[in-house]
Amino acid sequence: MKITDKLDAAKGETLFSLEILPPQKGKKINDLFAVLDPLMEFKPAFVDVTYHPEEMIYKRRPDGLIEEAPLRPRPGTVGICAAISYKYNVETVPHLVCVGFSKEETEDALFSLCYQGIENVMVLKGDEKNHLKIGKTNQHKYASELVDQVANMNKGKFLHEETLNEMETDFCIGVAGYPEKHFEAPNMNTDLKWLKNKVDLGADYIITQMFFDNKKYFNFVDKCRKIGINVPIIPGLKPIDAKYQLKSIPSRFFLEIPDELTKEVEKCKTISDVKQVGEEWCIMQSKELKAAGVPALHYYTMSKSDGVVNIAKAVL
Ligand code: FAD
Repeated sequence: MKITDKLDAAKGETLFSLEILPPQKGKKINDLFAVLDPLMEFKPAFVDVTYHPEEMIYKRRPDGLIEEAPLRPRPGTVGICAAISYKYNVETVPHLVCVGFSKEETEDALFSLCYQGIENVMVLKGDEKNHLKIGKTNQHKYASELVDQVANMNKGKFLHEETLNEMETDFCIGVAGYPEKHFEAPNMNTDLKWLKNKVDLGADYIITQMFFDNKKYFNFVDKCRKIGINVPIIPGLKPIDAKYQLKSIPSRFFLEIPDELTKEVEKCKTISDVKQVGEEWCIMQSKELKAAGVPALHYYTMSKSDGVVNIAKAVL
């Protein structure tokens, strides 16, 4: 079922959804099931599975020289989606990224998803980190171009006219939005203009980057509505569960952690104290968002379940 149909069917009730990461290459899928098992009790409306392109790794050879090699750190998004929907009978949403993927590879991946009965895709530019070096010449630059490709497939328009034209896909398309602005955008208005472009090209809903101050989300939604972005905007949330995240989250995701939360985390003496503070903060955010009637509460699990289980118990 499409995510937008699920949101419509909920008739204003706030849904619960999750994002998980594929296991690190070489780890068992059972590790992922162990994360999902306790979360399934809360009947997530959908589970997003992130996509991770190849990265360059550097190895020292016996002769002392450094060798560069491409390695996909977390492969298997499409297979994991199939495994999860089969095991738990839950809607899965594979992420698709521009980085490291040619347009033709994307088209083939979309055919595979369609044959598999997957109706939803989350379309992203992708984290660039070390991927620039191994970027494909024929890859999309921005998520909007990938949205356009998926929307064209939904109209039966493929990349090459030689492709038989006997089928149309019917993907529901999610895209990312940034309540605190995407780091590359010169300002919020420009970022919102490009977000609107993704919606105009066919995106059906938006999931936001995590934020720790609900005002940022509410202001973002207001600004979106003012410029005619009318699709559902689902807030993304993550509980802080380690002290080092006070630095790593702002520097990695370009967002602010409020003073009050920072002070509470800094006071903590043990990891379990930090987890408790992070969960309480996230519960407070979730309850306020739910009371405001957001379409869904979407949790970035980072493939850990304890924190989100405690939050779900308190909020759902
Ligand atoms: P875009 O929409 O392409 O925007 C990127 C930047 O370019 C923005 O600053 C925007 O304002 C600007 N821009 C957009 N279009 C144009 C244009 N035509 N001309 C000029 N500027 C333009 N990364 C992964 O690698 N794998 C994942 O699975 C993954 N999942 C994610 C899920 C969510 C909900 C979020 C919020 C992020 C996720 N990311 C993932 C990270 C994401 O790929 C990065 O944040 C990336 O830098 C931006 O992706 P985007 O799709 O928002 O990019």
